[in-house]
Amino acid sequence: MSETIEKVKCLIIGSGPAGYTAAIYAARANMKPVLYQGSQPGGQLTTTNEVENFPGYPEGITGPEMMIELQKQAERFETDVRDGWITKVDFSGDIHKVWVNDTKEIHCNTVIISTGASAKYLGLDSEQKYLKLGGGVSACAVCDGFFYRNQEVVIVGAGDSACEEAHYLSKLCKKVTMLVRRDEFRASKIMAARVKNTENIEILYNTETEEVLGDGQVVTGVRVFNNQTNEKHDIPATGFFVAIGHKPNTDIFKDYLNLDETGYIINKPGTAKTNVEGVFVSGDAADHVYRQAVTAAGTGCMAALDAERYLAAKDATFEVSTSTYN
Ligand SMILES: Cc1cc2nc3c(=O)[nH]c(=O)nc-3n(C[C@H](O)[C@H](O)[C@H](O)COP(=O)(O)OP(=O)(O)OC[C@H]3O[C@@H](n4cnc5c(N)ncnc54)[C@H](O)[C@@H]3O)c2cc1C
Repeated sequence: MSETIEKVKCLIIGSGPAGYTAAIYAARANMKPVLYQGSQPGGQLTTTNEVENFPGYPEGITGPEMMIELQKQAERFETDVRDGWITKVDFSGDIHKVWVNDTKEIHCNTVIISTGASAKYLGLDSEQKYLKLGGGVSACAVCDGFFYRNQEVVIVGAGDSACEEAHYLSKLCKKVTMLVRRDEFRASKIMAARVKNTENIEILYNTETEEVLGDGQVVTGVRVFNNQTNEKHDIPATGFFVAIGHKPNTDIFKDYLNLDETGYIINKPGTAKTNVEGVFVSGDAADHVYRQAVTAAGTGCMAALDAERYLAAKDATFEVSTSTYN
């Protein structure tokens, strides 16, 4: 017996700021969006305590609270928010096919991908402990640097983003110690030079993190070792920033969508369109530059508007109510 296939006018994959904003716009345009939350309902912001740079919250708000509010706003306009993980897609035809948890099949007129990206961490137990406690480990200098004003921090990484983040921190913090695993930067010469020429950034080459030190609640320092001499020493610090890259959550789309070498979905400039008609992208899944909640929300809006215009132009060649067939 064939499984019931559901038809959906607008399917949104992901429940971060991009997905919920897309849902608010799509729902208010009567597109009856169905949104799958994935394994991290609320997205990356649920892993942070304080969000102080999202407009509209003059006193700041915790990440989890903000995401509950976005969900409520999406549901207020009757977005169908569901628990489930999209495991497979087929974007080869006019109707886009999507599978939830490897079983349920959905046929969609439009798909909005808002699957975000995951910051890479070193994987040390001590790093994960203080990350989970919200006690001084961060993968986002622009988001969290402000909390370390006039303090001493350590940053790990050697690429362009790491240099950008170290330089950003140097303007806020008393001292930034940058740990570079090899004897040179991976970053472009110009970015490396910017860091080298900044007075309050100290660069330690051939240096790796052994342990993030703390008092059980917050970070107090970092134990490092020189990978050539094996010498160890402790660096006092209240913040430990990890800038070793991000992995966009886009593996399931790679057979159909154009991705860059890191896996970010390539959108048509100035739009949320991908190379497949009717499939749109928003948020960090396509953004390796800004990676902020407000930019994710902005592109979520763009994706819903692009999807709405696509449907209007297409003039519903497919029955668009959220019905099912066998
Ligand atoms: C610790 C931390 C602190 C931060 N602080 C700030 C801050 O203060 N201010 C700020 O502006 N930004 C901050 N950011 C960055 C911000 O969180 C991201 O830019 C933003 O969340 C990106 O939103 P998004 O909707 O693109 O994706 P995400 O928030 O990454 O959400 C992705 C969603 O997709 C879902 N998903 C993924 N794959 C699938 C799948 N196959 N099927 C179904 N669902 C799927 C996930 O479950 C998740 O719900 C911070 C990030 C981190 C990690």
